[in-house]
Amino acid sequence: MGQPSVNLGNLLSAVQRLLNGSVAGYSFVIGGDGIAPTKYSWGQARTPANGLPVPFESSTRTNIGSVSKFLTAIAAVQLLDTPAANNLDSVMWPWLPKDWAVRDDAKPITFRNLLTHTAGLPHDGPGADYFSLKSFMTSEASPLGPLGVTAYSNLGFCLFRLLLPKLASLVQDDPSVPEQKRADAYALAYEQLVREKVFGPLGVTGPSTQTPEDNEHAWSYHSPDTSGYDWSTYTYPGQVWPSNGQPLIAGAGCWWVSIDEITALLGNINNLLGNVLSLSQWQTMQGIGAPAGYQNSGLGIDILVHPQNGQYRWVEKNGGDTGGDSTGGGVYTASIAFFGSMEPEIGSNGPLYAALFLNSDISGPGGDNSWFWCSQCATLASPKNGGACPATGKGHSSGGNYVISSAQKPGGQGNWRKCSKCGALCYEPSATDPSKCPADGQRHACTGETFVVTQVGKGTLQSQANWRWCKNCGVLAFSGGNSDGGKCAAGGPHQFILSGSNYALLGNAADAVLADAFLEAIM
Ligand SMILES: [Zn+2]
Ligand SMILES: [Zn+2]
Ligand SMILES: [Zn+2]
Repeated sequence: MGQPSVNLGNLLSAVQRLLNGSVAGYSFVIGGDGIAPTKYSWGQARTPANGLPVPFESSTRTNIGSVSKFLTAIAAVQLLDTPAANNLDSVMWPWLPKDWAVRDDAKPITFRNLLTHTAGLPHDGPGADYFSLKSFMTSEASPLGPLGVTAYSNLGFCLFRLLLPKLASLVQDDPSVPEQKRADAYALAYEQLVREKVFGPLGVTGPSTQTPEDNEHAWSYHSPDTSGYDWSTYTYPGQVWPSNGQPLIAGAGCWWVSIDEITALLGNINNLLGNVLSLSQWQTMQGIGAPAGYQNSGLGIDILVHPQNGQYRWVEKNGGDTGGDSTGGGVYTASIAFFGSMEPEIGSNGPLYAALFLNSDISGPGGDNSWFWCSQCATLASPKNGGACPATGKGHSSGGNYVISSAQKPGGQGNWRKCSKCGALCYEPSATDPSKCPADGQRHACTGETFVVTQVGKGTLQSQANWRWCKNCGVLAFSGGNSDGGKCAAGGPHQFILSGSNYALLGNAADAVLADAFLEAIM
């Protein structure tokens, strides 16, 4: 398959159909080389549940979560994509604060390992602030994973809050200065560096690592219509910094950016204008020309689909922040994508880019957003942390969040129901179908609303596919493409039916909407 043509109008209308009426608010942009950006916004940045409503517009700044890693990676590539002594494949530890006794097992980690999530570092570790990073990086109490193996790490990107200012000589690193003061200085220098290196060449000055002081920024919500959460009040555990704590934990997340501001950046990179990244640096960001073992690993990028592998190009970074979730205050999600050919090419309408910033989860007519992948048994279950898990005998452990719908759609299979005992999504239209409930070892108790699950149709980005039915216990579970996996109430792992039953679920976030709309818009 070469580069497909993408109908931009269809992509926009797919986003509108998936989101309008189903979220608190969002803003979206699509554009390309020679194609002026089209922006579309819907709903509210702040709803009447929190005072005077504020519309969500393309100028609304929102928390872009892990899309911040894309910004951090751009600054890193500008400083390190060079044949000089310090480059992407150099070890990074000498650039940590010089009074840290860095653990020996972390000394082989390169900058590229951090940027590609292959450093063996944990997803979060003890925390993202200076003192948490220091405690993790100076003690071997918790072992590292294998170097070179992908394991997503926020901690690894937070280290750039320290590494980048030192590489750019923006901090003194003077051990006689009190440590908290140094921590503050690193945070301010990191923010200044990204502003200057990433947004400065475009004349964009608004983005920051804390909630903007204007009253126009987006709050986070659960859709529909619950009270939201305002990140301007955020502090992290142990914080002494007197105001908003986000700058002191930034690097992996915490950037506040509007669609207008991200459009300037994505457009410049995508259209190869070269003010921020040269073509060569942009290729480096996408893992092109990387050393063996890292060719398919983007820097600060989650998904890379290369045409060389017989597929279209799809380069995506996703983000979300659920920091307000524990208070019932909701979530932000964000996604950026580049697609079509990387350089202008006859027969392809690329290169193209899109971005979607969203300030709630997704509900809507027939939609139910209370479903989670259980990280223990691999089952799709509802509600969060409820039901009965065959792996633990307690409630399921919530992983990724998904939306399923009772509304019929193309390729959809109805008659899926929730078991009132174990919370799993089950398929057993007749009393003789396989059924085994972990709550009591009897059949599932499937009653009430029926849901429609979509069979995978045309060429897919694989991000949400590979949900399968287990022929032993009758539930829907994530297979990862394998014939068995997870934990089955009938004993051992689930046994998946692989032929004719590959289901795709819509994630409850901007990334899934963008990918889904893209697939719909391929002509
Ligand atoms: Zn479970
Ligand atoms: Zn059950
Ligand atoms: Zn099973």
